[in-house]
Amino acid sequence: MKVVVNQDACIGCGACVAICEDAFEIAANGLSSCKIKEEIPNELEDAVTDAMNSCPTGAIVLAEDSKEEEPVAEAA
Ligand code: SF4
Repeated sequence: MKVVVNQDACIGCGACVAICEDAFEIAANGLSSCKIKEEIPNELEDAVTDAMNSCPTGAIVLAEDSKEEEPVAEAA
């Protein structure tokens, strides 16, 4: 799975970072972002799922459900 943090929903509480700092970080804007832009490695999936379920605003979503990620540099 791939996940993204909906920047409009994140309140920067830091819960996701506390649960899985390998996958999430608080960026300079005070909001969380997912550090892993590719598939979440199997060994982190449980922690990332915990973080998704623990996010108080539901800001962490599967990438395929979101239109909101930064553009990927891909040839059109
Ligand atoms: S748990 Fe949710 S609201 Fe809190 S920092 Fe992470 S993404 Fe943002």
